[in-house]
Amino acid sequence: MEGIAALYGIWGIFLLILAIMALFMPFFVFRIRNEMISMNQKMSVLIELLSGSKKDIAAKYITSSGKKIKRCPSCGTKNRLEDNSCMSCGKPV
Ligand SMILES: [Zn+2]
Repeated sequence: MEGIAALYGIWGIFLLILAIMALFMPFFVFRIRNEMISMNQKMSVLIELLSGSKKDIAAKYITSSGKKIKRCPSCGTKNRLEDNSCMSCGKPV
């Protein structure tokens, strides 16, 4: 009889671990989902840039380091995307 009791104990612990893992499952799924979405967005941008259909946009907004910039149309200075006027000449960008 004691052997069966021990088996039930092991089975109980196993089920308990399974239940705890099942509780946390949605978090894993949600995180994987979000990572897949962001990866797909990056990949589609990469495909657009590599296909050359938006080369002018790439040259205008993305530097070699991957930072997003706005180039001043009159003097060519690199400005941040959120800037409204050029840092060096003050003209609107
Ligand atoms: Zn400027």
